[in-house]
Amino acid sequence: MYEVGNWINGQNEASSSSRTSDIYNPATGEIQGKVKLSTAAELDAAVAKAAEAQKAWAATNPQRRARVMMKFAELINRDMDKLAESVSREHGKTLPDGAGDVQRGLEVIEVCMGAPNLLKGEFMDSGGPGIDLYSMRQPLGVVAGITPFNFPAMIPLWKMGPALVSGNAMILKPSERCPTTSMMLAELLKEAGLPDGVLQVVNGDKEVVDAILDNETIQAVGFVGSTPIAQYIYGRAATNGKRAQCFGGAKNHMIIMPDADLDKAADALVGAGFGAAGERCMAISVAVPVGKDTADKLIEKLTPKVEALKVGPYTSDKDVDYGPVITAQAKQRIESLIDSGVNDGATLVTDGRDFSLQGYEDGFYVGPTLFDNVTEDMDIYKEEIFGPVLSTVRKDSYEEALDLVMKNQYGNGTAIFTSDGDTARDFASRVNVGMVGINFPIPVPLSYFTFGGWKKSAFGDLNQYGPDAFRFYTRTKTVTERWFSGIKEGGEFAFKAMD
Ligand code: NAD
Repeated sequence: MYEVGNWINGQNEASSSSRTSDIYNPATGEIQGKVKLSTAAELDAAVAKAAEAQKAWAATNPQRRARVMMKFAELINRDMDKLAESVSREHGKTLPDGAGDVQRGLEVIEVCMGAPNLLKGEFMDSGGPGIDLYSMRQPLGVVAGITPFNFPAMIPLWKMGPALVSGNAMILKPSERCPTTSMMLAELLKEAGLPDGVLQVVNGDKEVVDAILDNETIQAVGFVGSTPIAQYIYGRAATNGKRAQCFGGAKNHMIIMPDADLDKAADALVGAGFGAAGERCMAISVAVPVGKDTADKLIEKLTPKVEALKVGPYTSDKDVDYGPVITAQAKQRIESLIDSGVNDGATLVTDGRDFSLQGYEDGFYVGPTLFDNVTEDMDIYKEEIFGPVLSTVRKDSYEEALDLVMKNQYGNGTAIFTSDGDTARDFASRVNVGMVGINFPIPVPLSYFTFGGWKKSAFGDLNQYGPDAFRFYTRTKTVTERWFSGIKEGGEFAFKAMD
């Protein structure tokens, strides 16, 4: 059993809070630790210290700040296995997937090494007679990041990197389910040369989040989590005059056209639907085959692949495809949604309920579940299940399939599998979703592009990482400058009275 406190002024600090939250090992179902749920007063104290530390950090030139990121990247690589183990132990995902979680965050830190280039302003020579204009990007001051359980390394890194290298101080509030990786990353940042107080990790729940939203010093909030909380945080942050970018839930569809390579489409669906037990905001949870023949063949190909999936703990020495879900409550919720799909008349092709693993009977495992003949009125279609459940909604034409994607309240990611370039182009152009895959099931953009959904998958402006993140974490100041005639008119040879 371990206890997680806060990371304040460059060291671990025990929280004085009387409230704690259990940290489970989802693979075994055991409580492995406790995290203190910090108080609003602790948050305010952490912010005050961060504001102090931020002044010198902002005055440190961007290249020196970028060098801290270079060293940070080196240390993340050094500790990759430890970080991946911590991700998997608290989240449950397999070790290779845990390493992928760290890796996709590390790639954002790699972009942050080139931050001076992204922080450069603009310049217009002679915008008017003898008048130049230039703009500069200045840090906001103290900003906050509030992150979900499902990527314990990647999303904190998406927040920390751009915010810190831009000269801000950051308050990070990780998920109370998986807080340890953020604490390890904070320690590595100190080793990389980040001055004390510039990153403060304050663990907790709604009390700390509300204190962040109401704290007058905090200038901006970057949130990732479920849609209701994203919308709540966006509203309260905006009311309090803060910048906010709040990324929410998802229901990602993949259209399979009759001309698609169905073997490749089936493989892609299995990976994108069941990887990380479906607990990815970019997981494909709805397959949309176009035409009866496509649908029948797809189900025929998918079924043995889904049945063959290996579910197990991250510690297994055998090849495991995915692990447990995050909590016993999540398992229960997913299983009751599967019940509702059966009751609503969907065809249950493979049933993941009552899944039990020998030796890990108390782990939070849900078996792979495949539904066919799902319709739009069913809860399994409407709800974000966030589990290893793939629903198939059959459509008769491309236009009907596109319409389904367009009408869905979420707009995080989507994909189309086809061998026709014209259909693919049309889809990419018309669909109202932020990230699109063409013969690519999980189109998470690389770190020098930028990540963000549309519709109820995101509230606020500007995406995460890439150039947008540097816009979000800086404010622009534009100077219009004119110099009146000076020394260039000629030297003065006589003393002049300085009146
Ligand atoms: P969550 O909304 O429950 O929690 C996210 C954060 O908000 C946590 O730090 C949590 O402590 C805090 N929080 C929870 N309830 C709160 C409340 N009532 N008031 C204030 N703060 C609160 O989300 P989760 O279960 O940790 O993560 C899963 C969700 O995140 C899914 O919906 C998934 O789609 C989404 N997600 C979205 C993206 C994206 O980029 N769009 C990425 C990853 C995950």
